[in-house]
Amino acid sequence: MKNLKILFLHPSAHLKRPMYILMPMGMINLMNLLKEQNFQVYAINVGLELSLDSGYRIKDDLEKTEFDIALIDLHWHEHAFGALELARLCKEIRPECYVVIGGFTASYFSDQIISDHEYVDFVISGDGEKPLLELVSATSGGGTEKISSVSNLTYRSSGKVITNPVSYTADDAYSANYSDITSLKHWEEYLKCNIHFYSRGQFWYSYWLCVAKGCVFDCSFCGGGKNAHQQIFNRNHLFFREKKQVTDNIRHLAGLGVHTVNFSHDIQMAGVEYWESLLSDIGKNDIDIGAYIELNSLSTPAFAEKFAETFSLNYSTLVFSPLSGNEEVRAKNGKGYSNSDLLKNVELMESLKIPYAVYFAAGFPFETEESFNETLELAEKLSSGSMLKMIFSTPLTLDPGSPMFNNPGEFGITPHFRSFKDYYERSRKRACGMPFDLYGYHTDTLSPGQMNSLQVKWMEFMKEKFEDIISNLTVSRVNFL
Ligand code: SF4
Repeated sequence: MKNLKILFLHPSAHLKRPMYILMPMGMINLMNLLKEQNFQVYAINVGLELSLDSGYRIKDDLEKTEFDIALIDLHWHEHAFGALELARLCKEIRPECYVVIGGFTASYFSDQIISDHEYVDFVISGDGEKPLLELVSATSGGGTEKISSVSNLTYRSSGKVITNPVSYTADDAYSANYSDITSLKHWEEYLKCNIHFYSRGQFWYSYWLCVAKGCVFDCSFCGGGKNAHQQIFNRNHLFFREKKQVTDNIRHLAGLGVHTVNFSHDIQMAGVEYWESLLSDIGKNDIDIGAYIELNSLSTPAFAEKFAETFSLNYSTLVFSPLSGNEEVRAKNGKGYSNSDLLKNVELMESLKIPYAVYFAAGFPFETEESFNETLELAEKLSSGSMLKMIFSTPLTLDPGSPMFNNPGEFGITPHFRSFKDYYERSRKRACGMPFDLYGYHTDTLSPGQMNSLQVKWMEFMKEKFEDIISNLTVSRVNFL
């Protein structure tokens, strides 16, 4: 097999400045998988490079870099334009290369991408491990005759779009390396990134680690829930990675100097036996590291105690996502706990000195201006906590593959986006500084203007309360993402 040079690219959502720098966790494993097969693997994160040098031009870098295959992630729809622009550039600079795109959004719209964007050769849908190895093998001889047998692949043949079935789904027996990021250009600097930006002077490092695949829930807004996994990945169950592998990855990260490991999933979803034994192993191995976990629901007292005992709390956060202050709105969107249970959980955090954060979002299905006032009331109650790191209300954009996208009538929404082109245009307009549709939907109870007003109301609330919140805090906001 020819010793191919394989280039991974993570787009910036904006072409001239860094936007959404964090890479999909699965991409790291794919790099390592190909490296283990002795391919020459190199990765560029365009947003990170733009953060390090505002004059950086990916075009110049691509011209200097030799590659036979370009693998571009299009996981989050926010990258729809940036990813396709990278694909176009790769083909322009190296017309003989193969351009491959993968990730949730690419998988969801694979046929539309192949049909409308001639500079994309292949889209891999769902889990990429086996299909990528098959594709590399099929293309390394210079011919494409084996392409028809590559699992999960969409491609063009004689002017037609061909979709091979999603016959590969990673399962429990799966072995992976999510923690070696040394193929990435400036990987040490990547450890200073969060979802919004890179911070040169940041003294703590953090890293997102995949610990599971799938989900058992279907929150209204989420394109990564149970149904999306069935639809895109052909995955019918949630599985957590083998504990020893997760512990080994965490030990490796601690060795690199990482202060906080951000878990992809709430490990409580794996059951008591799993998380107890994982956290015990981390403790027994004396791994000095903090943890950031977004809780699917609430924390049990036993989990909170074990968490506090295992992780360095200076670098840790547990995150609650009640979505709304109104319990009915919360339940209809996928989170079924009461305000009083949330407040009790917050007391538990305070008593164990565990830093925590709280996420709300304005404009959910079934929300009204009155129910949003309940969000503000709850936020006010929560804002006096001394271990509170931050409290947010962030607008959400309609996720392809989410229950809201698939069944808008059931959630009382009018979707504005239906096709890949809609997402591409939205991100293109934003990248070109044009007005763009922030939410991609409106609800039966709120017009887009009313959704904006709620967000403005939240910002006014924060302006008024922020000084109080900051002065209440005894906990630092280190590693706040
Ligand atoms: S938001 Fe809900 S559906 Fe999405 S991954 Fe989390 S628990 Fe699953």
